[in-house]
Amino acid sequence: MRSFLRLVFLVVLLLPAFVLFARAGDTKDTEVYARIKAYLDTVRGIDTHTHLIDPHTAERVRQQYDMENPPTCALERTWRVSYLTWAHPLAPWSKDRKFDTWWKVAEPQLRNYRARSAYRSMLPLYTDLYGVDFDTLTLDQARALNERMEKNYKRPDWPEEVLLRRANTELFVVDAFSLMPRPKDNTFPFQTYVCNVQRVINGFHPSETKRFPLADPYAFAAERKIPVKTLDDYVALLDRILAEAKKAGAVGLKSPNAYERTLKYVWTPKHLAEQAFGKPRKELTPAQIKAFQDYVFWRLAELSAKHELPFQIHTGHAKIPDSNPMNLVPVIQANPKTRFILFHGGFPWVSEVGMVALKYPNVYLDSVWMPTLSYTLGKRGYKEWLDMISSNRIMWGSDLFTIEGTYGATRYARQCIAEALAEKVLDKELREEDARRIGRQILRENALEALPLLKKHLKSPAETPKPST
Ligand SMILES: [Zn+2]
Repeated sequence: MRSFLRLVFLVVLLLPAFVLFARAGDTKDTEVYARIKAYLDTVRGIDTHTHLIDPHTAERVRQQYDMENPPTCALERTWRVSYLTWAHPLAPWSKDRKFDTWWKVAEPQLRNYRARSAYRSMLPLYTDLYGVDFDTLTLDQARALNERMEKNYKRPDWPEEVLLRRANTELFVVDAFSLMPRPKDNTFPFQTYVCNVQRVINGFHPSETKRFPLADPYAFAAERKIPVKTLDDYVALLDRILAEAKKAGAVGLKSPNAYERTLKYVWTPKHLAEQAFGKPRKELTPAQIKAFQDYVFWRLAELSAKHELPFQIHTGHAKIPDSNPMNLVPVIQANPKTRFILFHGGFPWVSEVGMVALKYPNVYLDSVWMPTLSYTLGKRGYKEWLDMISSNRIMWGSDLFTIEGTYGATRYARQCIAEALAEKVLDKELREEDARRIGRQILRENALEALPLLKKHLKSPAETPKPST
C-alpha cells in the first residue's frame, strides 16, 4: 500500500511535466497541424528562387550514368551538390568508381550529419520518391537505391513528375547567373528567370567581368555596339540591360554580392566612383573599388524602381558579419519606390530582417534556404515575422540545383511553414482558417504580389499537371 501511495504521489508530481512534454513534444502529432498541412499540400507553390539546372546540362548528367564505370553516381551527386557539403566533408567519388567503396567511406560521415537541417531537408526525397528510410540503409539497400535513382534520371518526364506533380510547385524563378534568359530550348517550360547583376556591380573594368560571358555587361554592350567610355555611359548601359531583360521575361533583379563584400552600400558621389571606372584592379585601392560598387548598387536600386523589377538581395550566411541585412537600411530608406526582397531570412539575423521589414513597407522577406540552414531558426523566423509584419510580405524558395534536392527542400519548407502556423493556432494566437489562408499566401500568392510579372507565366488550370497523391 505504501508503495502504491508512493506511485500515486509520483504520478501526480510528474503529470504536469508529461502534459508539458506532450504539448512541446511534437506539433506535427497534433490534429491542427495535420489539417493545416493537408490543406497546404493542395496549394500549388511558387518557388521564388532556385538554381535548377537546365535540360541540356541535366542531359549531360544523365549520360554520365550510362557508362560502365561512371565518373560519379546519382546518390553521391545528390548529396554533393546539396548544402550538406558546405564546410563539411563528404567522401569524393571513389577512384575505383565502385559504389560500395564510396558508400563505406561516406556512410559514417553522413551518420554525423543526421541532426543537421541540410541533411534532414533531403530525407523526404528518399521516403516519398523511393519509399526508403535513408537513416537505416544497409549497403545492399543503398546500392539498390542508387540504381533506381540513376534509372529515374534517364526518364525525360522525371523533372515534371517530381517538381510539378509530387512537390506541387507550379512555377520556378531560376537564377541562372546570367543577365538575359537562356534560350528557350535550354530552359524548363515551368521556369521563369531573374536578371543577375553580380558582375554588373563589379564592372569598373572589363577584365573583372569577361570570365562570365552570360553575366558580362561589356559583352552585352559589344554585341549591340554600344560605346561605354564614361561612368554615365555605364549607367545608361545598365538602364538598357534592365529594359531588355524585362522584355525578355525577367521578373526581377538578383544580387548575390554578399558573398564577396559587405552589404553596407554607402551613398557615394559620382566623382568618387569615376576614380575607379576604366581602371584595372591592380591600379585601385579597395576603398576605390568599394566606392564604385556602392555607386552602381544605388543606381541599380533606382533602376529597379524605374523598370518595376523587384530587387532580390542575398542577405545573411555569406561574409560574416558583413551580410547582416541591417547594413542595407540606408539604401532601403532612400529608395522607398524600390521593392527590396531580402533573401534567406537574413540568416542567422532572422529577427533583424523582420525589424527591417517592420520599419520599411518596401521590404519583402523571402525565407528561401532558411529551413535548410536551420529548421529551428526557420520556424522561429516565420513565427516572429508573422508577429511583426503583414502576412502578404513573406515568401519561400528551394535554392537548389538538382531535381531531387529541390523536392526535399520544398517538402521541408512546407513542413516548417505548416508547423509554425499550427503552433500559432495551438498557442491561440491565430484562428485555424487564418493560418490556412496565410500558408497559402506564403506558398503562392505573395510571390505573385511581390513579383507581379510572374503572373504572365502562369498556365491555365487545364494546362497544369495534376498533383500526385
Ligand atoms: Zn541561391
